[in-house]
Amino acid sequence: MGRRKSKRKPPAKRKAIEPLDTQFNCPFCNHEKSCEVKMDKGKTTARITCRVCLEDFQTTITLLSEPIDVYNDWIDACETAN
Ligand SMILES: [Zn+2]
Repeated sequence: MGRRKSKRKPPAKRKAIEPLDTQFNCPFCNHEKSCEVKMDKGKTTARITCRVCLEDFQTTITLLSEPIDVYNDWIDACETAN
């Protein structure tokens, strides 16, 4: 007891729980970093919502998915729709 832990940050071992970049540029209103990804690992879905124009998109994810994958899915879906 009494020993303080060093202030050095521990190395990131588990990439999955690292706070990754979850904010992306919106393909609809073109605002930068206005789209936020919410991952729901339990339900294996993720939703990305633009807080400026309120466009949103939901997609299925896997345990290995990252926010950028959700964003890429959204962009793909947009291009498919066009
Ligand atoms: Zn937008």
